[in-house]
Amino acid sequence: MQNSRRNFLKQAAGLSAVCIAGLENAAPVKASAQSHDEAIANNPGTGWYDRPMRWAQLSFVEDDPGNYDLAFWLDYFKRIHADAALLDAGGCVAFYPTQVPLHYRSKWLGKMDAFGEIASACRNFGMNVVARTDAHACHQDVYDAHPDWLMVDDNGNKVRHPSDKDFWLTCALGPYNFDFMTAVHKEVMTMYKPDAIFTNRWAGSGMCYCEHCRENFHRFSGLDLPRTRDPHDPSQRQYMAWHQQRLFELCRVWNSAIQAIDPHACYIANAGGGALSELDMKTFGRLAPLAIADRQSRRGLMAPWMAGKSAKEYRSTMGMNPAVGLTSVGIDDKNRWKDSVQNGDEISLWMVDGIAHNFRPAFTKFNAKPFDKRWFPVVEMTFDWHHANERYLRNRRSLARVGMVFSQQTAAWYGWPDPASRVEDPILGFYQALIEARIPFEMVHDGLLEPEHVSQFRTLILPNIAALSNRQCEQISAFVRDGGAIVATHETSLFDEGGQPRTEFGLAELFGASFTGKVEGPILNSYLNVKKDPRTGAYHPLLAGLEDAGRIINGTHRVHVEARDPSMHSPLEVVPTYPDLPMEEVFPRVTDMHDPGVFLREAGRGRVVYFPWDIDRTFWEVLTLDHSKLLRNAVLWATNEPAPLEVEGKGILDISTWMQKNSITAHLVNLTNPMMLKGPIREIIPISRQVVRIRPPKDGRRVTRARLLVSGTDVPFSEESGMIEVEVPTVELHEVVALDLQV
Ligand SMILES: [Zn+2]
Repeated sequence: MQNSRRNFLKQAAGLSAVCIAGLENAAPVKASAQSHDEAIANNPGTGWYDRPMRWAQLSFVEDDPGNYDLAFWLDYFKRIHADAALLDAGGCVAFYPTQVPLHYRSKWLGKMDAFGEIASACRNFGMNVVARTDAHACHQDVYDAHPDWLMVDDNGNKVRHPSDKDFWLTCALGPYNFDFMTAVHKEVMTMYKPDAIFTNRWAGSGMCYCEHCRENFHRFSGLDLPRTRDPHDPSQRQYMAWHQQRLFELCRVWNSAIQAIDPHACYIANAGGGALSELDMKTFGRLAPLAIADRQSRRGLMAPWMAGKSAKEYRSTMGMNPAVGLTSVGIDDKNRWKDSVQNGDEISLWMVDGIAHNFRPAFTKFNAKPFDKRWFPVVEMTFDWHHANERYLRNRRSLARVGMVFSQQTAAWYGWPDPASRVEDPILGFYQALIEARIPFEMVHDGLLEPEHVSQFRTLILPNIAALSNRQCEQISAFVRDGGAIVATHETSLFDEGGQPRTEFGLAELFGASFTGKVEGPILNSYLNVKKDPRTGAYHPLLAGLEDAGRIINGTHRVHVEARDPSMHSPLEVVPTYPDLPMEEVFPRVTDMHDPGVFLREAGRGRVVYFPWDIDRTFWEVLTLDHSKLLRNAVLWATNEPAPLEVEGKGILDISTWMQKNSITAHLVNLTNPMMLKGPIREIIPISRQVVRIRPPKDGRRVTRARLLVSGTDVPFSEESGMIEVEVPTVELHEVVALDLQV
């Protein structure tokens, strides 16, 4: 791990000196760390960023100063073993005696220093402190003094804050951020020396047509600002590049200002994470020694594994640099009950799924005068457990052998106008299938396909990764040549990196398939015949569990293809669409068509599966069990090796497996039946006995003890065909099997 961390930093160094410098020259732990000796001994030389394991975000509201109980919060932070705090300093409302002109002070602040008081108290406890600022809104006096600092809409009007009419929205890309917020950050650094500054809503509130944006964009591109979001529009294409560049420039300006005052501190940007993220996560990963992930809870029908997905997405570009997963104690709904408290099981589920995938847990609460205190013991229980088991949670590397690729360029250039459905839904479908199949996996950024990033994997999954450059296609081919496997779907590699359609798959040779020029869909009432191999008289392992089906449903979109090898047998044959009404007409018209529904190849030492249809997207929409089986079987056949972790038993589990300094862990998060109809959980339903098999390390160290970290008991273990086997009698929400290794 240390090696790959060094490699990661080395690659990063050339491109973005500023924030990385903060990491490479990181100071020894800044806050007092007596209670964390063990943690530090386990992680030498990684500076303060890697020290805190549990974070508390307490954000003031304007009337908090003088009206809240500081001692209560400090006692709580201490009780839950929080070792870092994210605290409100300034920006749209200042909670300290600022001297920056036009920096609005809380009307309740008086002669107090609310930020300074709580920050220094946290420091005295040995906590790291990150100052939070907010850059998205300002008052009328800013408008009057600097009307050019405000956001302007496409009609040329300045934009009032949609929620609080006392505020105006600011322009993210002009002097408000570059000058005013820089002055705020310098003042906060000079007065308080926090360990970092984190900014909420720093990247703007949408397209801005202010004079600075118009002028700067024209200087960059020679064009006027776009009036459409269509990426095929030349101005919008340029805008997407300029917008990124400007935001990263802003990060660098703030980071330099901070590090000029304290070289051990840095700026931390608030950024998304996955394929739909606006900010290029590869660049973000190079800049950030630490991420604070802002997907705070789920809403509507969001899957409960989304916390873990977010952790994996950050890790894909940040390596093992720490990522903090914020959990909101409130209901995160479009109706914005921002001062609410959701039920305790829901809070625990979100936090624990993040922890299972290496997020460092954080709670976030706005308003220091809590109306509803039911969440306090819930967070305390999880944090307490986390503290007691910290040495098993300082992960050094994931042992997963499967990586799922996501592609921001596919979302940007191919996804329009509906990237959620065209790009994210296939990912969500495949993700759900891997959860059901209990296959541990990581996420992989398509900008990081070099061997040093992907050699830990046996199999890469390409869920409709449509836009790929020739270089990326070559990287994927090299991965297979070196013994890796791929499972790809639908339009993967049918477009170049800029979203221009190709006449042939970039991966045609690997797929063993040629594009015949047509993509059909949406199609109704199409099927796939399940076929034996005529040469062997047997069903392919892809069809395990479907041998008696005869025919299963197809997806809703298909790429027309032909096999490069005419003698190829496909275990699935397409039954083209036929009328679904009148009912008397529901019978297949074409009976002698043998279009392949899947391509399976052994390519050199590797294996390739290609589904020329939207199996993953359709699975996300319909969740049919047949598609779940196909996706599972495809990954198992392609991977063709014993898994690092097998968990046998009933229920839906989100699993992961990790190596620490002297132990291996397997997390089991019980997602079984959280709620019959919709998302929010009602009660945790324990699942019955699970048999867990973990592959011991290859370095020859013996396993000396097996322990269940949630039950808190030692358990017997045995070694069966090269795997360590442990029985877990029941899982409520979470269990961790920990194997201690000979030291
Ligand atoms: Zn602007």
